[in-house]
Amino acid sequence: MSDKKPQAGNAWLKMNDEQIKLCNQFSMGYIDFLNEVKTEREAVSFIINKALEKNFQPLEQIPRIMPGNKIVVNIKDKAAALLVVGKRPLTEGLNLVVSHIDTPRIDLKANPVYEADGLSLFKTHYYGGIKKYHWVAIPLALNGVVYKKNGTPINIRIGLKEGDPVLTIADLLPHLAKEQMEKKMAEVITGERLTPVVGSRPLSEGESPVKERILQFFKERYDVEESDFISAELQLIPAIKANEVGLDRSMIGAYGHDDRVSAYAALQAVLEVNDPDITALCLFVDKEEIGSTGNTGLQSILLENLIVELMHLSGPVDYFSVRKCLSQSYALSADVNAAVDPNYPEVFEKDNCSFLSQGVVLTKYTGSRGKAESNDANPEFLWKMRKLFDDNGIVWQTGELGKVDIGGGGTVAQYLARYGMEVVDCGVAVLGMHSPFEVVSKADVYMSYKAYLSFMQAF
Ligand code: MN
Ligand code: MN
Repeated sequence: MSDKKPQAGNAWLKMNDEQIKLCNQFSMGYIDFLNEVKTEREAVSFIINKALEKNFQPLEQIPRIMPGNKIVVNIKDKAAALLVVGKRPLTEGLNLVVSHIDTPRIDLKANPVYEADGLSLFKTHYYGGIKKYHWVAIPLALNGVVYKKNGTPINIRIGLKEGDPVLTIADLLPHLAKEQMEKKMAEVITGERLTPVVGSRPLSEGESPVKERILQFFKERYDVEESDFISAELQLIPAIKANEVGLDRSMIGAYGHDDRVSAYAALQAVLEVNDPDITALCLFVDKEEIGSTGNTGLQSILLENLIVELMHLSGPVDYFSVRKCLSQSYALSADVNAAVDPNYPEVFEKDNCSFLSQGVVLTKYTGSRGKAESNDANPEFLWKMRKLFDDNGIVWQTGELGKVDIGGGGTVAQYLARYGMEVVDCGVAVLGMHSPFEVVSKADVYMSYKAYLSFMQAF
């Protein structure tokens, strides 16, 4: 049988009734989270609130690190860390689960509002690996923050509440699309054409009256001027609710499973960790979808800075101890993989790719063109993970991102590996990844949570 991998089995068949009930409860919490959290900033605020509710203390309020401490760290409102301090010293390493909370989307440009042919529209620049044609003819919400010239932040969130208006990027009608339909898919919708319609009613008889009315809306509702968009971070995201998918309700469809599914599972897991031997650290990072750049992405030294700060609270910091802590650590790069799609068998190699509902996916390497830019996990670490998962009744499978040389991709694993720590990719399989409505299996989501929980209490 070519569709049965040796370690795999169907997670639904391996769970008993009680586990299936817990899995369904977990999924409903995850659906609520997906509907509430649409940007990395909203993810950080959700994570921090949940941590504070569970008696995690902000790092600034901790005088001295002690075993059992539960600590929450806000990194520029765009990344976060939750820690449960272990009995053993930090120099013996950490158990680290790293997920990312940014998602592919469409960002507004610095001068976004313009008028053409009696319509007002937004100019945009997309963020991350999107198929541009996915983003036309769907309802879009506008979400983010504007910093006014006087420094006041204004939060904007339009299109996600019942009764809110939405925006949309109109597509060309088929009647006039003869030429468009003959183009290559990548060229059908160009980046500069990702311009949502935002208004059609003129304010007066003036020069750009429809644009004027939109600017008036921002002024009246938010006291935001046109020039304030220069210091803003506004995103267009699908205004589509997360929902159960399938007549058997076995799946969840939503925008942003990549990688909020790992972030949510890791968050729920770390909230349950108590008095571990080894310090458990859950890191939620930004900018993965554009190469982990910036000062909230994992190519920065935010992890190192965090370790130095923790050690500083325990006494004098020395260079060797910082390096030792990082190099002795174990890490899961908690990120999604592609699920085999029966419509596209030509891109999947079924003995090694991951399937929906066959459990959390351990991915030894990602990358492309001969594993380039992958971390390629060491077998010395992989046997530990196999054993851990088997010993804890976690349904898991191996994964590989498609057939060799079909394409590829990367995760944050490589940026963790540079410290010398052992790291492997571990997350759920997703159908339709990077689309406005990605699909995961409830059973896999639940298994990923169990996997992260057992990992943070291991070794
Ligand atoms: Mn990802
Ligand atoms: Mn991604």
